[in-house]
Amino acid sequence: MPSSTRDHYETLGVGRTASHDEIKKAYRKLARKYHPDANPNDPQAEERFKEVSGAYEVLSDADKRKAYDAGPSAFGPGPQGQGSGGYSGGQTFGGDWTDLFGNLFGGGAGGRGQQPRAERGQDVSASVRLSFEDSLKGVTTRISVPQSVQCNACAGSGAAAGTSPKVCPTCRGRGVVSHSQGFFALSQPCARCGGAGKIIEQACAACGGSGMGQALKKYTVPLPAGVKDGTKIRLKGKGEPGLRGGPPGDLYVITQVSDSPVFERRGADLTLEVPVTMVEASLGASVKVPTPDGDVTLKVPAGTQDGKLLKLKGKGAPRLGASGKGDLLARIRVLTPKELSGEEKDLLKHFAELRKEDPRKGRTGWSA
Ligand SMILES: [Zn+2]
Ligand SMILES: [Zn+2]
Repeated sequence: MPSSTRDHYETLGVGRTASHDEIKKAYRKLARKYHPDANPNDPQAEERFKEVSGAYEVLSDADKRKAYDAGPSAFGPGPQGQGSGGYSGGQTFGGDWTDLFGNLFGGGAGGRGQQPRAERGQDVSASVRLSFEDSLKGVTTRISVPQSVQCNACAGSGAAAGTSPKVCPTCRGRGVVSHSQGFFALSQPCARCGGAGKIIEQACAACGGSGMGQALKKYTVPLPAGVKDGTKIRLKGKGEPGLRGGPPGDLYVITQVSDSPVFERRGADLTLEVPVTMVEASLGASVKVPTPDGDVTLKVPAGTQDGKLLKLKGKGAPRLGASGKGDLLARIRVLTPKELSGEEKDLLKHFAELRKEDPRKGRTGWSA
């Protein structure tokens, strides 16, 4: 292979002091020019392309370039002193190839002889209703989801019984067709086979050739303690089947939790309104309050104001995907007595005389 003895810098047409960017630019230009897809019947172009790629592989890598610059003795471990071109040998050519040609050739169509792409199946979602109590406890539920499944009759091939899909003669199974445009070959999905690479001459009677059918699939779904309204639970691989051997999609079960008449939920914390009388708030009281685990006694300190939040630690909702529970926040609501009797009015007037209280006095912005 005489061409492989050429100097890498010469191959790329750059000077020995060329920057990384200059090398990259030169490579891209040459790679486009000699790319085998742009020169399908020119073996020399393919040779040149390999040479250019090999040169780039060495010169684009700081370490390899340094070794190459140091001379053949320092380059490669072999006793026979490798030719510089040897480096491009069996190495796989990654990054820049897809980088460059992925754009030009519309994604996966870059590699020659590549099979049409397998496609991952669609994700499916289904919602499940549960009570507030069950959302805190966790519950196992059964759901039925109408889903596309592989057709039983043809095992998903779409071909009638006793026949099988044929390789598409238009694209020869590639799923794409290339049109030459100057140096470039532009690839498009094959119109004949729709990109599948195969055609069905006689369609399966059960699915009409789609390879898919509908079924009501039943799943048992464990809903962990602590799910909220809108929590998504993923059942991996339970979505629609993949196309052309691709993996199936996922099934997302979305919880719809009914509201609680008692608790309001904020993350793992629950809030609860606790009405108390003016007297309880003033003198302090022990009040029985509900929690998800049953009633507990809440101590309302003397002099508690309306709106005060009292925390019951660890009495909230289970933390989803973590251990422990949130808190229960009891919001105190002080009730003002209404429809007072004459005696009650007298008592309160007497109380006011004792207090001689003006809660607005001395407040900023209030006149004295
Ligand atoms: Zn085709
Ligand atoms: Zn079928």
